[in-house]
Amino acid sequence: MLKIYNTLSRRKEEFRPINPPYVGMYVCGPTVYGDAHLGHARAAITFDLLYRYLKYLAYKVRYVRNITDVGHLENDADSGEDKIGKRARLEQLEPMEIVQRYTNSYHHNMEQLNTLSPDIEPHASGHIIEQQLFTEKILEHGYAYESNGSIYFDVEKYNRHYHYGKLSGRKIEDLISNTRNLEGKEEKKHPYDFALWKKATPGHIMKWPSKWSEGYPGWHIECSTMSTKYLGDTFDIHGGGMDLLFPHHECEIAQSTAALGKESVRYWIHNNLITINGQKMGKSLGNAISLNELFSGNHKLLEKAYSPMAVRFFILQAHYRNTLDFSNRAIQASEKGMERLFDGMETLEKIKPSGESTYDPEELSKKCHEALNDDLNTPVLISYLFEGVKQIHLIASGKGSLTTGDLEKMKKIFATFVYDILGLKQEEKPAQESVANDLIRLILDIRMEAKKKKDFETADKIRNRLAGLGVFVKDIPGSYEWEWK
Ligand code: ZN
Repeated sequence: MLKIYNTLSRRKEEFRPINPPYVGMYVCGPTVYGDAHLGHARAAITFDLLYRYLKYLAYKVRYVRNITDVGHLENDADSGEDKIGKRARLEQLEPMEIVQRYTNSYHHNMEQLNTLSPDIEPHASGHIIEQQLFTEKILEHGYAYESNGSIYFDVEKYNRHYHYGKLSGRKIEDLISNTRNLEGKEEKKHPYDFALWKKATPGHIMKWPSKWSEGYPGWHIECSTMSTKYLGDTFDIHGGGMDLLFPHHECEIAQSTAALGKESVRYWIHNNLITINGQKMGKSLGNAISLNELFSGNHKLLEKAYSPMAVRFFILQAHYRNTLDFSNRAIQASEKGMERLFDGMETLEKIKPSGESTYDPEELSKKCHEALNDDLNTPVLISYLFEGVKQIHLIASGKGSLTTGDLEKMKKIFATFVYDILGLKQEEKPAQESVANDLIRLILDIRMEAKKKKDFETADKIRNRLAGLGVFVKDIPGSYEWEWK
């Protein structure tokens, strides 16, 4: 039975979908005004893991992940420039050109990270009418008000009947003192009220007609609107990064409850953030590493390029609810770990079955399932897989054995957990390196033939010359092994 930590109840709960085997899952996607970075990768991989595991458990999942392409203002505030509009102005492009460019780039990065595409990927800009209708419902129910052509959510009134702050644990009194003094605030009854619809200021590019004003939707309303449009008024899972917990998800709960009279989401799931060398990641700190920079090695903080699978494995080696600190040393350790895992799987393929088993794969399988069922505990799962790798090497070196049936079970376990659920895949080595490896194998095959002909002088010469190049050869009966030293 899968147990998952629900941010709303603050405890692990057994996962029971509303209408099994169907599962509705909504995840907040990117605001597409720049290249995706490590934070985007962690959210996408966390929910890709959950999506893959739910499908493995035979649920029929509808996974919706949105694209925010309007209404997300600078500093996540209710005033200031639209992030996409600003980028469009700076680059002298249509906002939709910015949206298209960074949506394509995001998709490319997600494919490199081997994340599965969502089943529906709605754009906020494609749901303006729906967002207006949703806003109207909140107005009808009395939880919003019009002010100078903009519509604001009435937090205080809502809090009289429901609980604003239940997700983040924040109290209204604290919010008052924390709300920054911002332009446009005088339109609001209270500083913590938030915009559902904003009247466009002169010069604002992205705007649509409405009965209230020519304007645009607030940032939060898109997710209330699109999640319930595609998954129904109540649905199972809502996910996103911890940075979205407040105000975005808190406001989303308030909007949906105000419009529909009940809560929409059963399980709120949040992945924790990534720090860089112990520091919070941020553009202003100059340490926001984009995925493209990571994959090419082109960033001052990087010692070298890291492959998409190394990044994926690095992220999965931490539990999704813990913070994860990126450093060259940490990801290089992950690279080695992943190599060890794949090396074990290759060795497994070479093992010949025996009449009896000295190891029970059933036990390994059970432990792997338990790890995932315990709130997707991937670091524990990976440690069990490493235990399995240790056994594989023992068996391959003759210190153990597996029957045909157990050998097949073992292969199935590794394929299922490593490829299907963790979503890892063997990456092609860069072309030059693979040619070099092929040449070494060719030379060592020739050396084998020389040995067969008792031409030990040639055999030794090849071995010594290769050693000089850093290639270490180990003779084993009838064959050889080699590695770079
Ligand atoms: Zn959202």
